[in-house]
Amino acid sequence: MQRQPLVIANWKMNGNRHLTSQLAEALRESGALLNDVSVVVCPPAVLLPAWQSEVFYDDVHLGAQDVNEHHAGAHTGEHSLQLLTETGAEYVLIGHSERRQLYGDSDDRVRAKVDAVLAFQEQKLKVVLCLGEHEHERDNGETFTRIEGQLAKALANVSAAQLAHVVIAYEPVWAIGTGKTASPQQAQEVHAFIRNWLQQRYDAAAATVPLLYGGSVKADSAPALFAETDIDGGLIGGASLEPEAFLAICRAA
Ligand code: PGA
Repeated sequence: MQRQPLVIANWKMNGNRHLTSQLAEALRESGALLNDVSVVVCPPAVLLPAWQSEVFYDDVHLGAQDVNEHHAGAHTGEHSLQLLTETGAEYVLIGHSERRQLYGDSDDRVRAKVDAVLAFQEQKLKVVLCLGEHEHERDNGETFTRIEGQLAKALANVSAAQLAHVVIAYEPVWAIGTGKTASPQQAQEVHAFIRNWLQQRYDAAAATVPLLYGGSVKADSAPALFAETDIDGGLIGGASLEPEAFLAICRAA
């Protein structure tokens, strides 16, 4: 099964208008090089309109870092699906470990967000479901139990047809922003586990789901990670704030 390589930039609460122009220009200039790679940028939501007017290269898409599961109403500080799509988002990260750890996104809330996105306006947005184990879970041999639990809960209501709108990002919590990357073998082992779990549950539809690795991916570690059979690209935090490094990662995909 051929899956198009996918690289997603997660700016987190970083970046500004200047970096928007810089990275957009760098991506445009390297257009030919990125021919076969799909690139998604998830800036802070307030920068989406700036990105929208910068990006006209076909293979650069926009994404949001989170979404509220309600469509409108009294939710001060939150963003709705409608608003995010109006400002150009085609993807939305759900269940990032920082949301889970710092902002109380429980497995139930993650499932509610996944369901809301997939039910929204004929699936205008794709879900990028983020999951991963903590260091103590890996040390205790609980990695697969943890991953399985997160998958089962987040995808509880997702049908095989809806799976076409889902991307999964495996991000071991101990590797995020720490400079510690999972080895290609460690990452591949978990990706193969996820692919297998999806196959058991969804059959042939599982083969089309892009599985991304995230956690301190840099220009020098990307090629070996992306060479693994079940690693279809990356979710890139820190290195996506440096245009040269990010382009090198995209080229490696
Ligand atoms: P990092 O972040 O590349 O800075 O480790 C990845 C992420 O949190 O998505």
